[in-house]
Amino acid sequence: MSKKRNWLIGLVAIVIIVFGASLFYFKEANKSQSTGQKTSSSSKTKLTNLPKGVKSTDWDLVLVNKWHPLSSEMNFEKATVSGATVDARIKQAVLDMQNGARAAGYLTNLISGYRSIQYQQEVFANVKKNNLAQGMTDEQAQKATAAVVQEPGSSEHHTGLAIDIAGSDAFEKYPNLEANMDQFASQQWLINHAADYGFVLRYPKEKSQIKQTGIDYESWHFRYVGVANANYMKAHNLTLEAYVKALKAAGR
Ligand SMILES: [Zn+2]
Repeated sequence: MSKKRNWLIGLVAIVIIVFGASLFYFKEANKSQSTGQKTSSSSKTKLTNLPKGVKSTDWDLVLVNKWHPLSSEMNFEKATVSGATVDARIKQAVLDMQNGARAAGYLTNLISGYRSIQYQQEVFANVKKNNLAQGMTDEQAQKATAAVVQEPGSSEHHTGLAIDIAGSDAFEKYPNLEANMDQFASQQWLINHAADYGFVLRYPKEKSQIKQTGIDYESWHFRYVGVANANYMKAHNLTLEAYVKALKAAGR
């Protein structure tokens, strides 16, 4: 009787140990799987299936930011669309996006397009002058100005491929352009459908992405990169900086 009991206790103990061990193993396996996924999604230079024929040197992928400023004005044919100037090659795409929004029930305002380096110099100088007038030293004024105005040469608007566009209702509430404009369905429509027209939301809000672009979230600033690039960047959640880096890593 007691032998049988001991045997039973032993059997139960074995079952518990085996079950416990497999549970532990399962948990660990899951853990390493999820860390594995994390590692693969953060190594953005190892992207596959990059769009065919695309090169990092293509005109619609030109990268302008504070680390890649322009030293002189860019030369390209300009066109006027909805009261703003853009690179003539993207005029139709801008019109199509505005028409698409209208068909979905949203009126939009094209707030700005191309800006010359010279114009940016004037804007910068004016803001800096105001800061100096408020008693700042030259160094302080320069710093305070650079915090709110792109330094001449480093604004993407110099390329003629960037547009500031907003739902008319969002723009009416936030005429100085604020991230909060994305609370409007019109702005959400633009953000969600931009890629259909070859545009990407250029300055997204994820912290890691702000580090890449060097610019805080802007729910109104879109950049033309072409439909294939825009769809790829959207699908892989890539900034232009990360995408160009990936193309270069692939020898493109
Ligand atoms: Zn802008």
